[in-house]
Amino acid sequence: MLLEINDLHVYYKSYWYTLKVLNGVWLRLDRGERIGVIGESGSGKTTLLKSILKILPQNGMIPRGEIRYDGKDILKLSGNELSKIRRKEIGMIFQDPMAALNPVFKIKDQLYDILKYKMMIEGHNPSSKELYEEASKIFSDVRLPDPDRVLESYPFQLSGGMRQRVMIAMALISAEKLLLADEPTTNLDVTIQDQILKLIHRLVMQKNLSTILVSHALGMVYQMTDRVYVLYAGDIMEEARTRELFSHPKHPYTQLLVASTPRLSSVGVGEGIKGKLPDYRNPPAGCRFAPRCPYVMDKCINTKPGKIQVNREHVVSCYLYD
Ligand code: SF4
Repeated sequence: MLLEINDLHVYYKSYWYTLKVLNGVWLRLDRGERIGVIGESGSGKTTLLKSILKILPQNGMIPRGEIRYDGKDILKLSGNELSKIRRKEIGMIFQDPMAALNPVFKIKDQLYDILKYKMMIEGHNPSSKELYEEASKIFSDVRLPDPDRVLESYPFQLSGGMRQRVMIAMALISAEKLLLADEPTTNLDVTIQDQILKLIHRLVMQKNLSTILVSHALGMVYQMTDRVYVLYAGDIMEEARTRELFSHPKHPYTQLLVASTPRLSSVGVGEGIKGKLPDYRNPPAGCRFAPRCPYVMDKCINTKPGKIQVNREHVVSCYLYD
């Protein structure tokens, strides 16, 4: 097992209130496995990925839970140990490359910095020529033409598709064991989305990377993952192998989610689920889906359902299967 998350709680605190976003998330990832995390926007998917790298915003806190990565407890590692993992083992593709890339530095400076640090961890201080050669090779892997121009550009001088490829290149430098991809095609137009997905898929398979793909685009998750977790309002509602989950969804939320995405080809979750996510300042005490659930029962209101194994690789958190 490469990654195991147990009972993970994440809060965001402000002067006035506390947002209780993740509410006891569990997840496991084997080496070489590709998993998806699906759910509506605002369900806590990005928070989950950021917790793994311990890069939550300043007001984020983890009051309870465990993140075990490759035998280590991420939440107890020193800054130095974490930095090594972020630079050499886990790479992340962010939703918005403009926010992830530093606008005041050329691509060359940002990419060389990551390459240099990684090579120095490996005990080698690279020359400028070596950095250039390595960057050109990585750009060729991500099908970025004209490396000289890209390296000398600032992020705003590149198209959205090129920026996304630069970010994938940067993530791949660090991702020797695990790639985290957070809605990797959200801000791109449809034709570029397809190219970027195929690119990520090819590189993941080539490098045999473990992957967590977070998305509200179910078609993408269906094509690219082995197993899926359904996250709703900070709770895992269901876990199953990908085909099983999409053909036999058990949890009422998953059923509505799958039904609201015709042929799973849409770029996102449809509008088919009535109601909205709960207020994280004061979330439901029991099942967080209760206010929107067509099957809600008295016991759903006050006590959160536990994990129920419906078959060997299919787990659901719902009293209907108790
Ligand atoms: Fe609906 Fe109750 Fe199941 Fe929650 S636990 S999904 S409210 S039936």
